[in-house]
Amino acid sequence: MKAIKSIRGMHDILPESIHVWQYLEDRLRRLLARYGYAEIRMPLLESTELFARSIGDVTDIVEKEMYTFEDRNGDSLSLRPEATASCVRAGIQHGLLHNQVQRLWYLGPMFRHERPQKGRYRQFHQVGLEVFGLAGPDIDAEILAMTARLWQDLGLDNVRLELNTLGTPASRKTYRDHLIAYFEQHRDGLDEEARRRLYENPLRILDSKHPETREVVAGAPSLMDDLDAESRDHFERLCAHLDALGIAYIHNPRLVRGLDYYTHTVFEWITDDLGAQGTVCAGGRYDGLVEQLGGRGTPAIGMAMGLERLVALLEERAAAPAAPGPDVYLVVGGEDLTAPALVLAEQLRGELPELHLVQHCGGGSFKAQMKRADRLGAQYALVLGSDELAAGTVTVKPLRSAGAEQVAVARDMLATHLRAALPRLQHESMQGHETP
Ligand code: ATP
Ligand code: MG
Repeated sequence: MKAIKSIRGMHDILPESIHVWQYLEDRLRRLLARYGYAEIRMPLLESTELFARSIGDVTDIVEKEMYTFEDRNGDSLSLRPEATASCVRAGIQHGLLHNQVQRLWYLGPMFRHERPQKGRYRQFHQVGLEVFGLAGPDIDAEILAMTARLWQDLGLDNVRLELNTLGTPASRKTYRDHLIAYFEQHRDGLDEEARRRLYENPLRILDSKHPETREVVAGAPSLMDDLDAESRDHFERLCAHLDALGIAYIHNPRLVRGLDYYTHTVFEWITDDLGAQGTVCAGGRYDGLVEQLGGRGTPAIGMAMGLERLVALLEERAAAPAAPGPDVYLVVGGEDLTAPALVLAEQLRGELPELHLVQHCGGGSFKAQMKRADRLGAQYALVLGSDELAAGTVTVKPLRSAGAEQVAVARDMLATHLRAALPRLQHESMQGHETP
């Protein structure tokens, strides 16, 4: 029979690479906690209208990339292409936003029907954060400082910050009119999609990847010329904060981002190490979105990182520590020792809650069992044979330190022996109280 494969652009994450994911997620969790963020988890499915109303009807995501279907009741649902809209929806629904400051983060899969290629998938993962109730630019700067710290934590030095402002809605309106006037003069140079968007969403054209259109875009007026005093002030103060923090940035006046809801600050962190899909983190301020989705006006800013791209960077640089093997592998010296071995393993797990113990199951020769212990990367083999059982001992055989001798340890001294032999156990039992 023909085997069934996973859907194109949707990938399994296998045990051989999971340690990189866990390392990254662990670093992110710790960092977010240090800056006062609380985790929130939203459903993967939302009503389609939520995304149409927030991301915008005339965007790549809503026009071409969403997984949308009718459920059994005939309601139109979509798999979330991003989670800002869901987070705002949840915030309004549960009364988290009005007159409050919230720093929230989430982690999970997102779904977009894009053309799969390196760094671009149909199911991919983001860690995102959203801050509500702060009009900035201090929080804008803090978010960028936290992100800069993350790159440092992860040993990633080739990530640069590109920054822009989209200004207030009023500035954008003025700019929009100037942009339409300019593009009307250069209509012949625009591709079909750009022409279609000319009146509906001219800013989107600045984002075009079409070569001819890009030439036209190169001569387009700059939003900077249309910024009102408030927009200019927000941006200048943010830049001053970044200068004070010593965070380098490039002002890219063409950076507009793919979603409609942004205002003021927008930014991307980009690396050259990943080829065309080099944006590892992107975000911006969206002061109008909460109201647009039915809440009371609340300033907000958020960003999201693509975990597949960060994992690829970490793998390329071998920056994530290798997956550790088990502490001990329990070798069972014959079928009649199966029950005593099971009992020993359970007793040890009770005595040493941090111990990673793999018991050999399924029988087999002593040699085959030792080979398996070695292949798994175990630190020690514990051997329970009939001699050991009779003597009330267990043989502890070091597998990773050349020249170290095996020793017979009395059963009632085994936990103490292992605790002394495995530094991780001492370390973790002390840490256990701090991080429940
Ligand atoms: P791009 O310009 O690469 O399409 P985007 O502007 O659509 O990105 P956002 O919606 O801002 O991306 O998502 C934030 C981050 O999520 C991106 O910077 C990227 O790291 C990651 N990301 C977005 N789409 C994908 C995808 N299809 N596959 C993998 N990662 C993605
Ligand atoms: Mg995209």
